[in-house]
Amino acid sequence: MTSPILTASGLRKIYTMGKRAVEVLQDINLEVRSGEVLVIVGASGAGKSTLLHLLGGLDTPTAGEVIMDGKSLFQKSAAERTRLRNEQIGFVFQSYNLLPELDALENVCLPGLLGARRTDGLVERGTDLLKAVGLGDRLEHRPTELSGGEQQRVAIARALVNQPGLLLADEPTGNLDSRTSEAILDLLWRLHTEHNTTMIMVTHDEHIAKRGERILEIKDGKIVS
Ligand code: ADP
Repeated sequence: MTSPILTASGLRKIYTMGKRAVEVLQDINLEVRSGEVLVIVGASGAGKSTLLHLLGGLDTPTAGEVIMDGKSLFQKSAAERTRLRNEQIGFVFQSYNLLPELDALENVCLPGLLGARRTDGLVERGTDLLKAVGLGDRLEHRPTELSGGEQQRVAIARALVNQPGLLLADEPTGNLDSRTSEAILDLLWRLHTEHNTTMIMVTHDEHIAKRGERILEIKDGKIVS
């Protein structure tokens, strides 16, 4: 059994809207082991995105902690958390979030230019990743010149460019037709196997969830199975 790459304990998130407080996550405890694929499934509004954002340090919890590689995420300063995120976590979202004025290769390389990391080999790494996602002949295309599935492939290559240990995917096929979705999921699973990247994916789609090695169901902000 490998050691946990990430542990969440007692995670709670309360959003306050005017005078009303909404408890979106209640006491979430989970452990993710290095190299596994964890799928978190639940209906729309169950709290999946909120949980994924907390696990990746994109948002801070009302209570609780996330430990990654033995270190607490929320006891770090915001700047330290940003650095850790940039170096160790790749994100793929439902909307591809590519910068429209940059071409595919520039979009993929961008996370490699942030922070103090060395840029040796960055362009080669970006090019290899775009080839690996089947876009070796689209390096200079801008997002508007690519289909939705191709844009998501660019976003996946971008998520992997800093060689993160952890990939977080939030409904990565939510905007795609079923055939393109299957191709993107096959790609994510292939890259997970090739790079031994730990992956956490959230989805409302039970069909997608069945691909996971381990599936957690979240309902009304609680893990129910
Ligand atoms: P899911 O990803 O499972 O669809 P979310 O985590 O996006 O669910 O949202 C869970 C609940 O939290 C929803 O009821 C949503 O309206 C609410 N919510 C999400 N983000 C915010 C926010 N920034 N402010 C207030 N409420 C929010």
